[in-house]
Amino acid sequence: MIQSIEQLCDLIELAPETLALDIDSPFPLKVPKHFAQQIEKGQPNDPLLRQILPDLAERQPVPGFVADPVGDLQSNPQPGLIHKYHGRALLIASPRCDIHCRYCFRRHFPYEQAKKQHWQAAIDTLKNATDIEEVILSGGDPMTLSENALIDVIGELEAIPHLTTLRIHSRTPVVAPERANRPQLLAKLSQSRLQTVLVVHCNHPNELSEQTADCLQAYRSAGVTLLNQSVLLKGVNDSADTLAALSKKLFRQGVLPYYCHLLDKVAGAGDFDIEKAQAWAIFEQLRRRLPGYLVPRFVEEIAGEPYKTLLTETD
Ligand SMILES: *Cc1c(COP(=O)(O)O)cnc(C)c1O
Ligand code: SF4
Repeated sequence: MIQSIEQLCDLIELAPETLALDIDSPFPLKVPKHFAQQIEKGQPNDPLLRQILPDLAERQPVPGFVADPVGDLQSNPQPGLIHKYHGRALLIASPRCDIHCRYCFRRHFPYEQAKKQHWQAAIDTLKNATDIEEVILSGGDPMTLSENALIDVIGELEAIPHLTTLRIHSRTPVVAPERANRPQLLAKLSQSRLQTVLVVHCNHPNELSEQTADCLQAYRSAGVTLLNQSVLLKGVNDSADTLAALSKKLFRQGVLPYYCHLLDKVAGAGDFDIEKAQAWAIFEQLRRRLPGYLVPRFVEEIAGEPYKTLLTETD
């Protein structure tokens, strides 16, 4: 795990002075070794580097970019549980991530909610909420929990009769595959009575390696359905070429694209923003080029809407 800018700059062979670094950002640098090794050396504009480098531009207020752009706090009557959509509830299982993504929509979320006493209460709520079929372990990143903690929570969910599906949202299999490849967890998932889905988060084909392929293969072998979500980011993946390459490489590693999210307008992320008209143009090119199953749904999250809203031509 790299948390020092000097260490990162050494590894990627760039002088810190050449970068517009925010050295004491309140959302500090954090990047796993695997992800850092996928960054091209000597390239200040590398699309992976851009995702993790604290940039001074983040300090600049941008109109319309706010602390809670998706209204998570309003859908959060109980600490540790977010219930916005019919039939699905999101359990904030961990306050941490293995990586700090600069564009993260949860960078200002009050994560003390992920404390164990809170999610225990959240599980009790789920026992009584018989309309919920699917629980999504999210965070933060649930894979930052210990293997035993994850196995325990899965066991508790399996014991709730009205649940049919367990979904895990995690960036760890992509950014730190050695941490996600956990034999006991995989055994638990393969034996589970629940349908299991792992939604990873990968934005650029360079993030994928032989190690990610091995890790993802282990989940496939455990019978887990693998999907990807990405975020459309200026200077990272804002072209049909990059997104087509991403879909193809994900598919080779056993993963189908699910969502490509338009950026949530969170304070600090303004530098990644892409106009909707341009997003639509990229989507159009992508669907001309790829089989339908390799085209992610372009969506945006509008606070208060009952689903993630599909981008349309008239947006
Ligand atoms: C995105 C999200 C979900 C899952 O939505 P799907 O369309 O089922 O992938 C569930 N709960 C919350 C709070 C979400 O933000
Ligand atoms: S892994 Fe996901 S939740 Fe964690 S910082 Fe990145 S975008 Fe945010």
